[in-house]
Amino acid sequence: MGSAAGADGLTQQQQQFLRDLFPGRQALFPQEQTWIYGSDAGRFFAQPWAVVRPSTLEQVQEVLQWAQTERVPLFPRARATNVVGGCVPLGGGVVLSTLFLDRILELDERDFTAVVQPGVSTSRLQVRAEELGLFYPPDPASVGISSIGGNAATNAGGMRAVKYGVTGDYVLGCQAVLPGGRTIRSGGRVHKDAVGLDLTSLLVGSEGTLALMTELTLKLLPRPQASASLLAGFAEQEAGLEAAGAVFRSGLLPAAVEFMDRKAVECLRSAGACEIPRGTDCLLLFKLDGSRSCLDSEIEALERHLREHGPNTLSTGVTPSEEEELWQPRRALNPASFHLGPDKLSLDVTVPRGSVGQAVDRAQDAGRRNGIHAVTFGHLGDGNIHVNFIHDARGPGQAEAAGKAAWELVFQVLHLRGTISGEHGVGLAKLPYVELQLDREKVDIMRGIKQVFDPRGILNPGKGY
Ligand SMILES: Cc1cc2nc3c(=O)[nH]c(=O)nc-3n(C[C@H](O)[C@H](O)[C@H](O)COP(=O)(O)OP(=O)(O)OC[C@H]3O[C@@H](n4cnc5c(N)ncnc54)[C@H](O)[C@@H]3O)c2cc1C
Repeated sequence: MGSAAGADGLTQQQQQFLRDLFPGRQALFPQEQTWIYGSDAGRFFAQPWAVVRPSTLEQVQEVLQWAQTERVPLFPRARATNVVGGCVPLGGGVVLSTLFLDRILELDERDFTAVVQPGVSTSRLQVRAEELGLFYPPDPASVGISSIGGNAATNAGGMRAVKYGVTGDYVLGCQAVLPGGRTIRSGGRVHKDAVGLDLTSLLVGSEGTLALMTELTLKLLPRPQASASLLAGFAEQEAGLEAAGAVFRSGLLPAAVEFMDRKAVECLRSAGACEIPRGTDCLLLFKLDGSRSCLDSEIEALERHLREHGPNTLSTGVTPSEEEELWQPRRALNPASFHLGPDKLSLDVTVPRGSVGQAVDRAQDAGRRNGIHAVTFGHLGDGNIHVNFIHDARGPGQAEAAGKAAWELVFQVLHLRGTISGEHGVGLAKLPYVELQLDREKVDIMRGIKQVFDPRGILNPGKGY
């Protein structure tokens, strides 16, 4: 998908305005420099007219004021790891990159808060917090390559969401600039706030459609003393899913519970990514954390519950390197899945936890019925199943088959009272399904809210709802 306007989408006068406001390499115009800012990790693409990379609040305020006056579309972009076309300038416009807004402004050990600019990488904040004995729990699998601003704008989840929640649970407040240049501060550094409408929660997950977040105040926790990971393989997928359910019913609350199905195991094996015993049909990966004194008994209890369901392999890691080795299959899965075919259509559907088994079956059925591979894996603990329909788009009817499988799955997931996206958001990719989940009245309210923040519709137009 694409548009070829390049800098021609802007008048000479508009280009000059941007050059004056963003000196040197803060503004980019030549197509060979801007095209890389036109894509995301989902391989969506549209050529930007220009890219601006502010380093101050004043620059952000001025460009948002100018864009509203000139009716120039602006597309917020952080590290572009979203997979739904969320930051792609479809229809043409200026990409507003937060790459140069990347300072950790404050880490407060007494208030248990961090104040950061939006372009700070998530793993950098985690590491800095841990050095002070603090803990920033949200950890999308993209933690090393995505940013806090992007995570907040998508309300990113991640491995530890089952115990600790998602990014939005840690955003206490933010500073944000609206189209027109008006700047608001919502929330603050208090861990509770019951005054007025919660504008922070409205901005979290708004996919860059309402305002540009320029500063975020985040909640931190004390760093857990210790952690351990367990990898269990099962010869039957049903036994694995039953084992996971039994763990939850036992009263244990792992920090992470990840699942990989038989196709995922097949990919990992053919990629030579790790040693998995023959006959393994599904893998479960658990992380436990907490105080050192409790951890040993939790490991023992978890091993006992898993053994009751007859795993064909069970390994426990307690040192960082042992744990890392057990997480290797999960990290290797994304690239390994391309062993089944060069193209994928991904969904991150989420269902009530008790319906996970049905959702996995239905995803696999949709793949089989349409003659393509369905790899299912993901955050089992919060019912968030990633489904990759792997195909070869060059083959006759393959792209259509993947599209049909995705529609079938979306209908099934909504029937199970689930959602079409648990964490990746809508962007462009899921727009066709949105009105199946959100009725007309809700979409009208959302568009009314957009109108209040962005009356001329210049901020990330055409995304989300
Ligand atoms: C390998 C891999 C693993 C992943 N794993 C996970 C996972 O486990 N969980 C998960 O939730 N996601 C995951 N993702 C998806 C992606 O990493 C997340 O959506 C992430 O939050 C995007 O962050 P980003 O910094 O790359 O933002 P971008 O992709 O640049 O932007 C995302 C959205 O936020 C908007 N935006 C960016 N900055 C701002 C701002 N300052 N103000 C307002 N709007 C803004 C953009 O317009 C866009 O709509 C994964 C992606 C990859 C490639």
